[in-house]
Amino acid sequence: MAKLLEGKPIADKIKEEIRQQVAAMAMKPVLASILVGENAGAASYVRSQAKAAESLGIEYQLHKLGEDSTEAHLVDFIKKLDSNKSVAGIIVQMPLPKQIDYKKISQCILPEKDIEGMHPANIGKILFGKAKLLPCTAASAMALINSTGVDLYGKEAVIVGHSEIVGKPLSLLLLDKFATVTVCHIGTSEAGKLEEHVKKAEVLVVAVGKAGLIKGELVKEGAIVVDVGINRVGDKIVGDVEFEAAEKRASYITPVPGGVGPLTVTMLMRNLVEAAKLQLA
Ligand code: NDP
Repeated sequence: MAKLLEGKPIADKIKEEIRQQVAAMAMKPVLASILVGENAGAASYVRSQAKAAESLGIEYQLHKLGEDSTEAHLVDFIKKLDSNKSVAGIIVQMPLPKQIDYKKISQCILPEKDIEGMHPANIGKILFGKAKLLPCTAASAMALINSTGVDLYGKEAVIVGHSEIVGKPLSLLLLDKFATVTVCHIGTSEAGKLEEHVKKAEVLVVAVGKAGLIKGELVKEGAIVVDVGINRVGDKIVGDVEFEAAEKRASYITPVPGGVGPLTVTMLMRNLVEAAKLQLA
């Protein structure tokens, strides 16, 4: 039976480090959060970010812009925050209204204030193993894997899902540890090859958003399984991996909820402190 890879104990440890670093700063670091329009999901992220920030001594400034804001207006707004020396980090909440292109917006935030780690300059640094501001979900998955203490050198790591926030950056982080990395996506599934890749995974990370996509019986004996997926099934939240069957085969497995989720907001706060330090350097 697998050991549970829970996010909370790791998050608690990182939070303690953040508290100490914030306490040593001359001024409270400021996190500027921009919410464009009304969205229930985004509003709930904002609440949990504000709560986490407050508990760590970080000032959370919420800026609400109207649903009909233009891209140019948002760009101008971000540029003002970029040049505001009292702001350490900026986050633009997702989703954005359809008239605004997120890719353009993520490039307006100064790389040293980009606490989501999505500016091309920060993504590029991952390639060279020099990133200070990592995409939060990929960093969370990596922290869970690292917490097992298993040496990744030469291990078969399989990632299902190639999004910019999870699969792609995580592939580079695993490669940096000398894992042999395979990234699967819709093309892999449509070619009927997903099963063969999953079966060989000694480290399996799934970030798709489809309940039951990975049958538990496919999980390799002794594998480390990190399930990033969040799916609502009836009144339950489940991941992308069939937990009960996978748990019997894996050596470590994340619960959903309770695995990656509790870590992502902590990683955002860790990036904020890193950003504050980068601006002092
Ligand atoms: P995206 O929709 O951006 O990416 C999903 C990925 O899965 C894409 O690469 C897609 O490929 C691939 N995919 C879709 N269907 C299949 C399939 N049948 N077989 C293999 N690959 C497939 O999602 P995100 O990366 O943003 O999020 C993924 C999941 O993780 C979601 O459930 C989300 O809610 C969750 N999540 C959880 C977080 C947490 O804190 N716990 C944080 C962020 C996300 P293609 O694009 O080619 O179709």
